[in-house]
Amino acid sequence: MPVPVTRLAPSPTGALHLGNARTFLLTWALARARGWRILLRIEDLDGPRVKPDSIASCIDTLRWLGIDWDDAPIIQSSDLTPYIDAMRRLAALGLAYPSTHSRADIEDASATLALSAPQQDAHDTLFPASLRPPLHPRAFDPLPTDSSDPPANWRFVTPAASTCVHDAFAGSREFDTSAIVGDFVVWTKRAQPAYQLAVVVDDHRQGVTHVVRGDDLLDSAARQLLLYRALALLPEPTHLHLPLVKGPDGKRLAKRHGDTRVSFYRDAGVPADRVIGLLAFWSGLS
Ligand code: GLU
Repeated sequence: MPVPVTRLAPSPTGALHLGNARTFLLTWALARARGWRILLRIEDLDGPRVKPDSIASCIDTLRWLGIDWDDAPIIQSSDLTPYIDAMRRLAALGLAYPSTHSRADIEDASATLALSAPQQDAHDTLFPASLRPPLHPRAFDPLPTDSSDPPANWRFVTPAASTCVHDAFAGSREFDTSAIVGDFVVWTKRAQPAYQLAVVVDDHRQGVTHVVRGDDLLDSAARQLLLYRALALLPEPTHLHLPLVKGPDGKRLAKRHGDTRVSFYRDAGVPADRVIGLLAFWSGLS
């Protein structure tokens, strides 16, 4: 039996917060208890939000907490070739196309169609299939040289059907991605892979069998399964989405609840095992 593989996938967009640290601690504890391999993948493709010092500080904070991993960290931005290859395949299959629609165009189109989108989340803008061009190129060019063309996002042709995510923690959940976000972005106009595509390409090429993360990404799992299927990637990973830590007001733990940066407690002289104890307590482990 091959050894199962999981990953820690921080986005270095600022300091590591208690909520992320708790997800990483639980992933680590689960993996170490069951003998899975752990990879560290730095998801630094989030354009302007990525802060230069955050990669080193994130690694340092994880180490301070005693969370370790089994191979050298993988930095997504170090080689875009695997994502470009995946985009070429999607474009050749007619499953991705360039789109220069602005957010205002997209909001107008959704409103005109009176799409009530029952599952749509407040922060997701629904890109309706009506904006999909009837004809689109079958070739993907990561860096278009013709400067007369405005920069385009490439979007995935989302099928009008639901996808079931069989989550090992949250149970089986159906998501109709076409009603939540519609044709979502897979390649950004900043000439970088978008999160959904990058995660699928990396989880597949790194042999990740178990994706453990916060349940704010549960509906993303449906988008990612659509991409696994479009690209004929097998096996699909097992998902395990954990409930996020909430503050006393029932809202996701954030600045409004006080300083949630792990470094704040470290700098104040709180020992790592007390921080671990708090994270474990929040997880019902003590
Ligand atoms: N990089 C993402 C985050 O920090 C996690 C992505 C994932 O686990 O799939 O929220």
